[in-house]
Amino acid sequence: MQIIDGKKVAESIQDQIAQVVSWRKSAGKKIPHLAAVLVGNDGGSETYVKNKVAACQRVGFRSTLLRFPDTITEGELLNVVEDLNQNPEIDGFIVQLPLPKTISEERINLAIDPRKDVDGFHPVSLGKMMLNQPTFLPATPYGIMQLLDFYQIKTEGKKCVVMGRSNIVGTPMSILMARNAHNANCTVTLTHSRTQNLKAETLQADILIVALGKPEFVKADMVKEGAVVIDVGTTRVPDASKPKGFVLKGDVDFEAVAPKCSFITPVPGGVGPMTITSLLKNTLLAVEMNGEAF
Ligand code: NAP
Repeated sequence: MQIIDGKKVAESIQDQIAQVVSWRKSAGKKIPHLAAVLVGNDGGSETYVKNKVAACQRVGFRSTLLRFPDTITEGELLNVVEDLNQNPEIDGFIVQLPLPKTISEERINLAIDPRKDVDGFHPVSLGKMMLNQPTFLPATPYGIMQLLDFYQIKTEGKKCVVMGRSNIVGTPMSILMARNAHNANCTVTLTHSRTQNLKAETLQADILIVALGKPEFVKADMVKEGAVVIDVGTTRVPDASKPKGFVLKGDVDFEAVAPKCSFITPVPGGVGPMTITSLLKNTLLAVEMNGEAF
């Protein structure tokens, strides 16, 4: 069994990005510039955005953080998005979710110029992904594809079971694994809360990708011997003995499942570090494609 070290892979890819940035600097080309929009004071969102800005600095990108109180109206936020769409300095931007209930996440997402949609959540990006055209891929599924690639895990012809069908993880993941593309070509089953006899499905998986948000849901008797297990789940479980007052739990019962696997991602340190790395890769793609129709 081999543990997939997402931190190591993320560092290695970020080093490559830093080299490209330093080459761009010396060649007098534009330095990639990512903007992040943060509304309100949600603890999780603050941490994610802070980490994204820090990652930009690490690789030499420019970054701008725009903060707004949760009293901002949808119209005001749409104006912010439009300003970012029009600003030639900004290559890509993200609007950190969740947004206050008074604002439609769908309308905000639709307002983002697809050429700057480095989160890859816009319908244009998702449509191009489906059609196997060059585009921004949603960060977490993209990160998982890079992990599989880095560890040279064979995917072609394999049976892949994806657990969870969210728009940002499970559904795009299932499409990427099924595409006729390098390190994909799997036969994919997408499962969700209405799936009957879930265990019969998961036991078929050569590659099992779990994105439920249910701590330690996947037990050893649900996993085939020799499977590759990718755990996307990150749930803060209260633990008074820890300095932060919680521990981060994945969706897989790691201790019990790991001995059966050929490869497995830990939580933390597996998929998580790759999500930000994908955002950086998408921002680099944005600056490289700047001005071109794609
Ligand atoms: P989500 O939107 O809450 O979706 C959860 C999915 O799990 C839904 O499709 C749901 O089915 C399915 N599900 C729930 N209970 C189930 C059950 N008993 N059996 C089978 N399927 C079940 O979640 P998400 O946004 O994809 O996130 C999933 C987890 O990944 C969370 O812990 C999140 O924090 C984590 N995450 C991590 C990263 C990272 O960078 N590491 C990034 C994104 C998300 P229905 O559709 O039928 O309701």
